[in-house]
Amino acid sequence: MKALDELTFDNRFARLGDAFSTHVLPEPLDAPRLVVASEAAMALLDLDPAVAETPVFAELFGGHKLWAEAEPRAMVYSGHQFGGYTPQLGDGRGLLLGEVYNEAGEHWDLHLKGAGMTPYSRMGDGRAVLRSSIREFLASEALHALGIPSSRALCVIGSDTPVWREKQERGAMVLRMAHSHIRFGHFEYFYYTKKPEQQAQLAEHVLNLHYPECREQPEPYLAMFREIVERNAELIAKWQAYGFCHGVMNTDNMSILGITFDFGPFAFLDDFDAHFICNHSDHEGRYSFSNQVPIGQWNLSALAQALTPFISVDALKEALGLYLPLYQANYLDLMRRRLGLTTAEDDDQQLVERLLKLMQNSGVDYTLFFRRLGDESAALAVARLRDDFVDLAGFDAWAEQYQARVERDGEFSEEQRRARMHAVNPLYILRNYLAQNAIVAAESGDYSEVRRLHAVLSKPFEEQAGMEQYAQRPPDWGKHLEISCSS
Ligand code: AMP
Ligand code: MG
Repeated sequence: MKALDELTFDNRFARLGDAFSTHVLPEPLDAPRLVVASEAAMALLDLDPAVAETPVFAELFGGHKLWAEAEPRAMVYSGHQFGGYTPQLGDGRGLLLGEVYNEAGEHWDLHLKGAGMTPYSRMGDGRAVLRSSIREFLASEALHALGIPSSRALCVIGSDTPVWREKQERGAMVLRMAHSHIRFGHFEYFYYTKKPEQQAQLAEHVLNLHYPECREQPEPYLAMFREIVERNAELIAKWQAYGFCHGVMNTDNMSILGITFDFGPFAFLDDFDAHFICNHSDHEGRYSFSNQVPIGQWNLSALAQALTPFISVDALKEALGLYLPLYQANYLDLMRRRLGLTTAEDDDQQLVERLLKLMQNSGVDYTLFFRRLGDESAALAVARLRDDFVDLAGFDAWAEQYQARVERDGEFSEEQRRARMHAVNPLYILRNYLAQNAIVAAESGDYSEVRRLHAVLSKPFEEQAGMEQYAQRPPDWGKHLEISCSS
């Protein structure tokens, strides 16, 4: 276990130089205080969890203090936003403080979000509000606990600093961690500004640090792009299987590591709805739940365009062709497991699609359905779940097909079935209304609910005594919350 001043830095991105990022110091928050910290994320830095409660923790992550070896930098990038190219974006309110090595030899970027203005702030104030910082914190750690790759969050620091959005709010900072903060938009920036030297430097950096195994391949850059395609196909399969809607899949929000990155008006589905749009400024539904699949490919094509200086167009196209079949295979594999199946049959895709259509038509809770399906034998479970469906004949027909399929799958005891299914079907997910309750309490200075919710979500598959209220469908007021896009 380390004390806070024992972190070891090696700032490899900063060393790429001023073409890639600009030195900026964090602007401190007034009266910084700990809102919530993630013990699991602290462990990644070998930090003793007790240090989160010390004043110096809030000072460091509230922008008052810096390690001597930290080199805070605002990164420059660009990206396609809602389909149109924005030539320059960048860290407008976040700073890469530096890269820390842990005892296992892993390196973690420490990125402080809400740290004040930078040369890339455009019209923004460089700040983040408490509400959005809490949402990012909870989502990062909840996704990780579900087994969905994501950036991590070390802590949220609250403050008295006034920040204006639709109304006056309070500023906060979230300390985000990832093995890299490089986005598709980094490659796009150097491609469209016609800086081939920096573009090559960036590609070498990513290859050496994040895809070293691709060095062994005859065409290392192509191997790297293929790997990025694969990781994104796997990631989006997980989003779809678990009902996560990102909401702002602009290419500047897509990580080259294939992790969930940059949280805005995201949501987990309550009722299953393929057409769900969590971002209320997304009028055309470009980033609706089901569109995440083709948009994943669209984004990879945008990255492919930026890689044309290194890889032939034909090879890029071929690699892009891997996306959809890989996505489908991964998605189907996850859905089979969610249904408790251990073998594969040709009709499984159709079994899943039929179920989703029925759930859609009846507004069935996506998370609880699968959880309850695993509570008991298939026959008992479907008999109990039947009441949730409006189209009873349709459900009965599906249930018959499902039970026959379960029988062909093999003989398992009820306990085996339950254990297997509960290990992949969470009981607790970050429902918008749960986050909202925690935010309302935190805005009045009570952080206990954020902490409790974070703790519950860190073991989403494990039934926790006394936590029944976190495993409920939303009350009426919490069903269609409009999450503000200002953050
Ligand atoms: P986002 O929608 O959070 O992915 O942000 C898109 C771009 O706007 C990024 O370049 C952000 O750094 C920038 N940005 C968002 N909010 C602010 C803010 N309050 N101040 C400065 N820049 C911001
Ligand atoms: Mg962003």
